[in-house]
Amino acid sequence: MIRTNNISFSYAEYEKTEELDSDDLELIIAARGGALNAYAPYSKFKVGAAIRLASGIIVRGANIENAAFPSGICAERSALSNSISNHPHDKPIALAIAAMTEDDIADDFPSPCGNCRQVIAEEESRIGNKIKIILSGKNKTLIIDGISSLLPLQFNRKNLKFNIP
Ligand SMILES: [Zn+2]
Repeated sequence: MIRTNNISFSYAEYEKTEELDSDDLELIIAARGGALNAYAPYSKFKVGAAIRLASGIIVRGANIENAAFPSGICAERSALSNSISNHPHDKPIALAIAAMTEDDIADDFPSPCGNCRQVIAEEESRIGNKIKIILSGKNKTLIIDGISSLLPLQFNRKNLKFNIP
């Protein structure tokens, strides 16, 4: 018997930043600040990410490009490397991503690439909690309840036979 299944997800969409929760807005502003520190001489697409940890600490990251393109790193993985390296026991609860053009906030919200989705999924698996994903552009902000919506049928530790605590 063949079954056809369907995967869908819900997300919140905000057109005005004033409608956002103050914690979420603070995280978006931190992500925009992170974007200002990006090193993106090739794409000129400056992306920032900010992670709120359970303690309230906010950790930022930015994209860091390289003349050897695969050696560059995205803002999301830069922020996660920062948080795990410096606060390994302080669980991320939310991750905001924002992009800047040369002189303004990018109109469209940035969405994490496949590599970053996989790394965010690993972090959710490591900490045992969903991470709220906030994608923020100038005119629209999306709030998504965890990475599984953006990476359905994901490959993770459950697919491996290792017994990781
Ligand atoms: Zn990425």
